Amino acid sequence: MRKAAQVIVDVPTMQTDQPFTYLIPFNLEQQLTIGMRVEVPFGNGNRHLQGFVLAIDEVSDEVIAAQKFEWKEILSVLDLKPVLNTELLELADYMKEKTFAFKITCLQTMLPSVMRADYSKYIYLTDELEETMQDELFYGLDEIAWEDAVARNILPQLLQLRKQQKVDIRYEVNTRNRVKIIRYVQALKNVEQLEEARMELRKGSQKKEQLINYLQQVGLEKMTTVKEMKELGFSTAVLNDGANRQWLTFIEAEAYRDPFADHTFEKTTALALNDEQQNAVNNILDSVNQAVSQTYLLEGITGSGKTEVYLQVIAEVLNQGKTAMMLVPEISLTPQMVHRFKSRFGEQVAVMHSALSQGEKYDEWRKIERGEAQVVVGVRSAIFSPLENLGVVIIDEEHEASYKQEETPRYHARDLAIWRAAYHNCPVVLGSATPSLETRARAQKNVYKRLVLSKRANQTATLPTIDVVDMREEIQNKNTSSFSIALQEKIQDRLAKKEQSVLLLNRRGYSSFVMCRDCGYVLPCPNCDISLTLHMDTKTMKCHYCGHEERIPYHCPNCSGDKIRYYGTGTQKVEEELKALFPESRVLRMDVDTTRRKGAHEKILTAFGNHEADILLGTQMIAKGLDFPNVTLVGVLNADTALNLPDFRSSERTFQLLTQVSGRAGRAEKPGEVIIQSFNPEHYAIQLAKAQDYEDFYQKEMYVRHRGDYPPFYFTVQITASHPEENQAAKQMFEIVKELKAGLSDQSILLGPTPNAIMRVNNRYFYQVIIKYKNEPNLQNILKKILTDTQRATAHGLKLSIDAEPMNFI
Ligand code: ADP
Ligand code: ZN
Repeated sequence: MRKAAQVIVDVPTMQTDQPFTYLIPFNLEQQLTIGMRVEVPFGNGNRHLQGFVLAIDEVSDEVIAAQKFEWKEILSVLDLKPVLNTELLELADYMKEKTFAFKITCLQTMLPSVMRADYSKYIYLTDELEETMQDELFYGLDEIAWEDAVARNILPQLLQLRKQQKVDIRYEVNTRNRVKIIRYVQALKNVEQLEEARMELRKGSQKKEQLINYLQQVGLEKMTTVKEMKELGFSTAVLNDGANRQWLTFIEAEAYRDPFADHTFEKTTALALNDEQQNAVNNILDSVNQAVSQTYLLEGITGSGKTEVYLQVIAEVLNQGKTAMMLVPEISLTPQMVHRFKSRFGEQVAVMHSALSQGEKYDEWRKIERGEAQVVVGVRSAIFSPLENLGVVIIDEEHEASYKQEETPRYHARDLAIWRAAYHNCPVVLGSATPSLETRARAQKNVYKRLVLSKRANQTATLPTIDVVDMREEIQNKNTSSFSIALQEKIQDRLAKKEQSVLLLNRRGYSSFVMCRDCGYVLPCPNCDISLTLHMDTKTMKCHYCGHEERIPYHCPNCSGDKIRYYGTGTQKVEEELKALFPESRVLRMDVDTTRRKGAHEKILTAFGNHEADILLGTQMIAKGLDFPNVTLVGVLNADTALNLPDFRSSERTFQLLTQVSGRAGRAEKPGEVIIQSFNPEHYAIQLAKAQDYEDFYQKEMYVRHRGDYPPFYFTVQITASHPEENQAAKQMFEIVKELKAGLSDQSILLGPTPNAIMRVNNRYFYQVIIKYKNEPNLQNILKKILTDTQRATAHGLKLSIDAEPMNFI
């Protein structure tokens, strides 16, 4: 009898997308359990890979003997306890089924990135090598690291030797999940003993005397960090000397990297809820109490107090000894939001967002895994938090596209939340002022239970008044600035009243580029079918698809003329305009360029909150979650750039954005005003945003979707094939469409095959087809077959991706 493990190895291909059997060495039998990471040999034996243990079986010697290929043994165990529990392993199965991703990709996605394998390569001797050569190349050793070989410029020579089979390459798995260790100093001797020690010191040992003084002063209990000791002027040499003389000892302790170390959070308590809030809380808690995995839609206008509902539900969940998870979109995981949670729940909160360093993320993850944090507030990937005993899952701003991952595995956090809630028999709360049509329609059909908050929670606050300005008229009236006359007047008025304004520049569907005035030439990306975007901060032209970067040209590459001009209004340009119009105003700009540095985001918002600026000018990232009582004016400079995108969701996105950003105005006593500048003022998305009528928008948009056979009336799947050669990509796509036509019922609709809107990206050509369907029980199988059938082509450069419910439809 032996024990064997089923291991998923770190090779994301179709052929390896299944567990492989490895024997467990006797010395690891006790230690190894399901959900741990291991190091295993793979392929030719020199390659060591990381793998995940999915199952452990007993196998008889006969079974082992009957194997055609000998089973290999696990080399080492990388974890002391499982990193994925049974629930998360099952969730990986579900995710794989939903997203068509490889199992290994699903498993790795669930863990902090420091736990992904990192491999190092070594070159080692396999055969006799002349002694001189061995000395020269290997310095007499048996192997050298790949990087060393590169650095010493001997790699070509070694690869030559490999052809003669004298050396070979070995791979090793590195673990990077390092724990942070803090070193402390603690006194070993009491005051009298130290006094004796002082007597023995030679004259002039000033630093040592000071150390004695310090140790006497703090006593035997106190641990001082080495860092603090250094700040007090004690050098490493003095401390080491103190340790040698046994005055003190060094103590090492594991520590968490705390991203909020320099923050204080004043404790807040629950507010008295209004009737609608109370009703929502009661409803959700019913499901908590009865352990029912009901999904709720909490539809509440901006400022209606949804967050307070979340907080009070969570408080009760914690009270019952359970845990809670709240997801927020990246851009609304603002310091304000973190603050509200930390102030209410203190140390119990773990925060997961992408601005944390890898180490910080790993530490937050460990806090959750050890049960030290019972509340997780985080972005999409926080859905994988290893919380046990979940009592509620909340998704704030559930309509946000960022809950869908745009790379494999292409999961939607909402689906996974509902799965996890079902596993734990607990409710899911989807909160939004502008629910996605899909969610709202499900609430209509009572699949989700709808809870409504119809008033602003702060009783002195009212919804702002919204005006739409027709920018075509501005141009007719010879105003070519980014600011309409009406908006200029309002800004002036706020400056006079010492109130604040928020200005939004919608970046979707628009970018700044350079064009030659003489010949109209626009600088293209050499690798993609798209023009390069101007970045003033780095003074370069960048491709947003492949990352290509080049200098801003002085002369037109086409006609050699020197009339190269910038087009489009970047935030920087608008900022300059603003300063020219209102020289006395203080402007803060918030966009990708000004928030790149860690903590910059927070700094800008804190400064604005302290009224160190009159105007906050920014992109989408200012539209969400900000709660500043002194903001009485919101201006949207270009409401409709996104309306022109060929995406059936563009009206929905525009409506959502306008509603969100309008919600930043008039959140306290002072009434708010919103100016929306638009070239399509009569478009229903803009008119209904002006009316602040979600319900009407929902009805109208449902009608449009129904007519166009779009979600939520149809489900959608997008299949994309890409290849370095255009005809290969097209050919594959036609084959796939043929297969789809044969397999699908005639109720389903195929759009395509067509080249993608941007056909060439990074020198690969993209073709796609979209399947719209209502009910295709066999679809999973058809798609899996397509994946299998294209496997051979994959080896020749084809890449295939399947995206269920794609969020970007162009
Ligand atoms: P939402 O998340 O729906 O946009 P918030 O939770 O941010 O709304 O609430 C808006 C404001 O109303 C906040 O300043 C919040 O403190 C306040 N608020 C929420 N609930 C209440 C309540 N029951 N009584 C008084 N103020 C409230
Ligand atoms: Zn490019």
